[in-house]
Amino acid sequence: MQVRIYRGTHQIGGCVTEVKTNTSRIIIDMGEELPSAIRMEHSPLEIDGVTNGKPDCNAVLITHYHGDHVGMFERILPQIPVYMGKVAKQIFAVVQSTLKSKLNKGNPDKVRTFNEYIIGKPLSFGDIKVTPFTIDHSAFDAYMLLIEADSKKILHTGDFRMHGARGGKMPAVFEKYCKDIDVLITEGTMLSRTDEKVVTEHELGAQADKLLRKNKYVFALCSSTNIDTIAELYNAALKTDKPFIICENEFQGEILKIVTQNTTSSFYDFNRRKIYVYGKNLHGLMAEKGFFFLGRTNNVTQKAIANFPNNLFIYSMWNGYLDKRHPAFDEYKNDFINSAIHGGSKMVYLHTSGHAGIDEIKKVCEITNAKTVIPIHSEKPEMLKELGIKSNIVILQDNEILTI
Ligand SMILES: [Zn+2]
Ligand SMILES: [Zn+2]
Repeated sequence: MQVRIYRGTHQIGGCVTEVKTNTSRIIIDMGEELPSAIRMEHSPLEIDGVTNGKPDCNAVLITHYHGDHVGMFERILPQIPVYMGKVAKQIFAVVQSTLKSKLNKGNPDKVRTFNEYIIGKPLSFGDIKVTPFTIDHSAFDAYMLLIEADSKKILHTGDFRMHGARGGKMPAVFEKYCKDIDVLITEGTMLSRTDEKVVTEHELGAQADKLLRKNKYVFALCSSTNIDTIAELYNAALKTDKPFIICENEFQGEILKIVTQNTTSSFYDFNRRKIYVYGKNLHGLMAEKGFFFLGRTNNVTQKAIANFPNNLFIYSMWNGYLDKRHPAFDEYKNDFINSAIHGGSKMVYLHTSGHAGIDEIKKVCEITNAKTVIPIHSEKPEMLKELGIKSNIVILQDNEILTI
């Protein structure tokens, strides 16, 4: 069996991995490079039999809906089946529909043709068997894939962590289903961000609860698809009896509806209290009861902030976007926040990473008892060698083939 990382060995994002036997071939993720990637290849990735030429690939398996894992899906040849999580697919279709209606980009119709995983149910692609398991990540309904062929086992983690809502269950899942792995392909985002403190989503929720009690008017900025953080904020609003307000229904409201319809957990049930969609008609209620407003960097949120200038503004996104020295610096976001601060907002930073901290990466290597570990999705994959992990650590270059 052969493993080849087309892209993503030395950058965060742009991930495309191939697993191939003599007769079968699968691709895991078809990601776009992040504009902030330090070692960006820029040129569009061409893979013979996958993006061009005669179709020669059993399936493309997407781990989750972040653009750096699925952004190039439109380039997959139409004859090749694509797989994704059932709820992830619905959320991604909303993202694509919004892109289409606002920017005339995106392809929700193709997304709707994706096949869906059933958790723990193996899929067969020729002589390659793939079993999908849900994994904890800031994208909802994300998967790791256990790949078996030629009497060998590969575990591809996708992006993961162990400090989100599902984090506590992860060690037991690895222990039960993913032992004695021959090759572990793990994400290593945090290998270059060792100074970042990893708090749990639950700790974040407890902090939010305190902040909501102390402040009458609260705005927050967080990724619209980071469901764990949004659920923590929703629960904090519920406990502190503050109306939960979103800036528009078509996108954010639709995503929360999909999550609610597909969950049995009360934590993710966004129907427990009315979600208000912002409009001037709410000003009376907002002034009287206070509120929690889940904003976006758009005009609607800006107007709402201007109407309630003495507010607390929770910034719940990665702080690299606001760091002028970082390639990921986002000028629009930075200006948006600065204008809120000038208008009277008091800003606090309350965020936790979607990625595994150093200790969590180490833990997965140990629990799975991996013989070989390949780090991907990392700017400093070599750092994995410094962690005292017993496995054989292989640093691949993009396009290099490893035969196992
Ligand atoms: Zn990623
Ligand atoms: Zn991700």
